[in-house]
Amino acid sequence: MNPNLPIDQITGIGKYYSYKLKRLGIKKVEDLIYHFPFRYDDFSQTVPIQNLTTGIKMTISGVVWQIKNIRTRSGKILTIATIADQSGVIDAIWFNQPYLPKIIKSGIPIALSGKVEQEGRKFKMLSPSYELLRIQRPIPDRTATATIRDCLEQKTTLHTGRLVPVYPETEGLSSKWIRSKISQLLPKFLEKNSDFLPDEIISRQKLITLTSALNKIHFPKNLKNVDEARKRLGFDELFLLQLLSQIRKREWQEEKKAPKIKINLSKTNKLIKKLPFILTSAQKKALDEILQDLNKAKPANRLLEGDVGSGKTVVGAIAAYNVILNGYDVLIAAPTEILAFQHQKTLSAILAKFGIEVGIWTKSKKTYGKLTCGTHALLTSFTPEGQLGLVIVDEQHRFGVAQRAKLFLSHSKHLTPHLLTMTATPIPRTLALTIYGDLDLSVLDEMPRGRQKIATFVVPNQKRESAYQFIAKQIKEGRQTFIITPFIEPSETMATVKAATAEFENLKKKFLPKIKLGLLHGKLKSKDKEKIINNFKKGYFHILVSTPVVEVGIDVPNATIMMIESAERFGLAQLHQLRGRVGRSEHKSYCLLFTQSESDLTIKRLKSMEKVSVGFELAEIDLKLRGPGEFYGVKQSGFINFKIANLADHKTINTTQQEVERILQKDPNLKDYPVLKEKIAQLQSEYIQPN
Ligand code: ADP
Ligand code: MG
Repeated sequence: MNPNLPIDQITGIGKYYSYKLKRLGIKKVEDLIYHFPFRYDDFSQTVPIQNLTTGIKMTISGVVWQIKNIRTRSGKILTIATIADQSGVIDAIWFNQPYLPKIIKSGIPIALSGKVEQEGRKFKMLSPSYELLRIQRPIPDRTATATIRDCLEQKTTLHTGRLVPVYPETEGLSSKWIRSKISQLLPKFLEKNSDFLPDEIISRQKLITLTSALNKIHFPKNLKNVDEARKRLGFDELFLLQLLSQIRKREWQEEKKAPKIKINLSKTNKLIKKLPFILTSAQKKALDEILQDLNKAKPANRLLEGDVGSGKTVVGAIAAYNVILNGYDVLIAAPTEILAFQHQKTLSAILAKFGIEVGIWTKSKKTYGKLTCGTHALLTSFTPEGQLGLVIVDEQHRFGVAQRAKLFLSHSKHLTPHLLTMTATPIPRTLALTIYGDLDLSVLDEMPRGRQKIATFVVPNQKRESAYQFIAKQIKEGRQTFIITPFIEPSETMATVKAATAEFENLKKKFLPKIKLGLLHGKLKSKDKEKIINNFKKGYFHILVSTPVVEVGIDVPNATIMMIESAERFGLAQLHQLRGRVGRSEHKSYCLLFTQSESDLTIKRLKSMEKVSVGFELAEIDLKLRGPGEFYGVKQSGFINFKIANLADHKTINTTQQEVERILQKDPNLKDYPVLKEKIAQLQSEYIQPN
């Protein structure tokens, strides 16, 4: 079976189910096969009814004696079935499934799995999983149970009598349905799919084959099977990701030509002297690395990582300046309009006095410059006037790798521009090298001098009023405050906006009459957003109430308090970014965290914000406490969706790295590994054309 066969073309799936499957990200057969269980119900203990133990998950098998629906006084429909084996009788009860007697008929052999309860001397199972057993000849009486038990022992059952896989579900699509489909499709899928991992690696790393791994992850006989399968499939994810990025790096550097930028040292120094501050040595070092990149005819592909406020923008500006002095154009892409406008302003302030016009390219405003700052609109409606020499992507984890790729591909004329991505997400180096293995890395690991530590407190709710009084006091002293409203859903929906608006109205009443408030949320028109931020910057109001949209990059030095509601919903790295909106001036700054959660673990996690002020460390803590899936938007960061691999698993990361190097050294074009080569080609095509 072709792994790329669209899911709606499978008999028995059709429009209705393929629509539901899409919600789980399943579009083709391969996606379904790679939809892995997140746990297993252990129904492997099969016992005679008389030996049942209450409170434990067990499986029994027998024959249906009778089954009927009854209506309770409250109007609910119960289905009660009596099942018997040679040793005893048990009742099974289901709720609100009046169609069951049409499926489970008396005289039919059946297996039930679930927790057993006892009422007097009678056993019952509430809402057990059931499975009609396929036995050739009809069996009318209780003597059949021996045959049935054979059936269970051979593990031919799917939903009972074994380790039963439980899958991520969606409304109208149960684990049972998914399980049945996978068990139908898996053998056909495996027939046509050879193992892409070279034999030598399989044996060197003591892995199991792909066929075996896929069988075992879905239908394990025991938990050891699950471990073996996860080891192999997790290895695959890390191996493929790194192989892909190493190949991309080679292609990038060997095939593409970039404009060689001559570095104008005297003009660069003049610009640096005109800055209102002295560059940190980390900034100088990063700049040096970037300028060396630009000076080559190979397109650079570098990640500039630096904590919030570490001063990435100016580094980008100086690089851009040199590229423009060589006659090429520069683009800066930002994830939001607010940021694009802010970049235009900051960069203008640095570069305008050197005769460089800075344009803006967003949905609402479009002007060309030798340097143009913009949003997604750069991908859709922008054509550069000259040859692009450098593309800078800010906060790239939000922008998405695939979009990054599109950006430079669509704007390549005969030369490929150098690429610089900037992020404040504190990704530990090993992790960065895994996720972005094709990138070179520069790190701003030093903050500009004079930055103070931001005093951070997890504030108990009974002290809320004093927190408001503290805010009022700071405002009286001329400072400003951010209040981040509860975050309802990760993407900004109407629910979030409504909550923010309600909170805004409450706060307005509380702070009347002297203190003025503004409201910012993602559903505002970008012109309005820009106006609100500018008014806040100018001090026309004192408190900016906002949904988490302010997270990235907004610079208002006079703000000294960052108050965050529902702090537990955020990752520590995100909280750290929010906190980074304050502490940008000589005034002492504060971060106040509120939560409704009473979980010890949550409080402990939030309390680490009080002690730790380094983004990298907070990221490590989150990596330990919440796992990598939750954070960095790892999912958006690459086209490979890690389902199993653990990015904190340095050991596997190292071995996969070694295997990748080994194979590319021996056979850079994968001539001797046609299956692997094909797999890579498939991933590459998905990479460039997402969705
Ligand atoms: P980020 O790395 O978060 O993008 P920005 O580039 O926005 O940080 O810089 C944050 C602030 O720090 C800006 O107001 C910028 O002018 C200032 N800044 C940058 N470099 C230095 C420096 N070396 N010394 C003092 N202030 C600096
Ligand atoms: Mg920035």
